[in-house]
Amino acid sequence: MFLVCSSMDPTAPAPAYKTFSFRVKDATSGTRLVALGNAVNFVWNFINEVSAKSAQRDPRWISKKDLRALTKGASRELGLPSQVIQEVIDEYLDKRKAARRPKLRWRVSRGARRSLGWVPFTNQDIEINGSIVSLRGQKFRLWQHRELQGKIKSGNFAQDARGRWYCNIVCEIERTTTNRTAVTGIDLGHKTAAKCSDGPELEQATFDRDLEPKLAEAQRQGRRRQVQTIHAKIANRRKDALHKFSRAVVDRAGAIFVGNISSTWQIASGNAKATLDVSWSTLRNFLEYKGDHAGVVFAEVNEAFTTQTCSGCHALSGPKGREGLAVRQWVCSECGTEHDRDHNAALNIARLGCETLGLKGLRSLGLGITHALASSMSRSGDLKR
Ligand SMILES: [Zn+2]
Repeated sequence: MFLVCSSMDPTAPAPAYKTFSFRVKDATSGTRLVALGNAVNFVWNFINEVSAKSAQRDPRWISKKDLRALTKGASRELGLPSQVIQEVIDEYLDKRKAARRPKLRWRVSRGARRSLGWVPFTNQDIEINGSIVSLRGQKFRLWQHRELQGKIKSGNFAQDARGRWYCNIVCEIERTTTNRTAVTGIDLGHKTAAKCSDGPELEQATFDRDLEPKLAEAQRQGRRRQVQTIHAKIANRRKDALHKFSRAVVDRAGAIFVGNISSTWQIASGNAKATLDVSWSTLRNFLEYKGDHAGVVFAEVNEAFTTQTCSGCHALSGPKGREGLAVRQWVCSECGTEHDRDHNAALNIARLGCETLGLKGLRSLGLGITHALASSMSRSGDLKR
């Protein structure tokens, strides 16, 4: 069992972040942003090529310092602030490290497979004045629907599938705390749902049912614009559902534990994997940052054996292996408790999370898992991200 906490400095509380997203206003901004986005793609592809080539010659892949030196002077030619170029390099190196490959996917500026526009920036590159944001002097108008809070750290301009631009600004905000005591474990379902140990669940894969025929029709007729619109609509609905679900969880919990995705899960989900992957990582992010704002503990726990273990008596009496994946309900052969597969897993995840945080004595996790954790919670306060 392990626990993932992004930062565990016991002396200083880690900062909390909040992202504000504003739609960029007019058509001319769009054109200018597309130009900036294409320049970003150019930089990305350039460093991608350099990185790939360097890896052929040298086991140590090209460094940040060298990439900075190589892109020096490109700023004026590309009409891209040099700080933005540095941001692109930083992001590239992060992605490269995560991918453990010296070559990543190209960013495509034109055609059907073009990448969605993206222009990163830091707090030093932008100024915000009412509904006007200036990126190193270039002004863009925003539909500002809420005030920024806290200190601006970084952000980006990003395009959605419909070609609309958004300005996303990440702010550092003051960390809050909660004295709520409820613990929620969430099992990210193998097939259909995210199941909470305290009841509610999120149904997957129902976002596009009614749009499917429309989408198929538009694809048959080659109506690209409409296809894009429908895809964006589906993505919006999914995001909306994930927002609502995570909001509800964060609003009632003092601690949230999520299972990390196991290999059986990946085998089980097969073709639907890509979509579920995105949804679950989005959900995790939502839970994490919303939890962060609300002072709610969030952590991932190793979900190995959470399906097989009886949440009542801890015997490994549950469904096992590939054949076991189809079993939705089962009865523990040791203690006779009846289990719903996902709910049992969610209860185990909640228990594992509590144990990892040193919240012992949670032997019997009944249906309503609302244990008084206040005292131990304050002890584990520095475990909050
Ligand atoms: Zn049992």
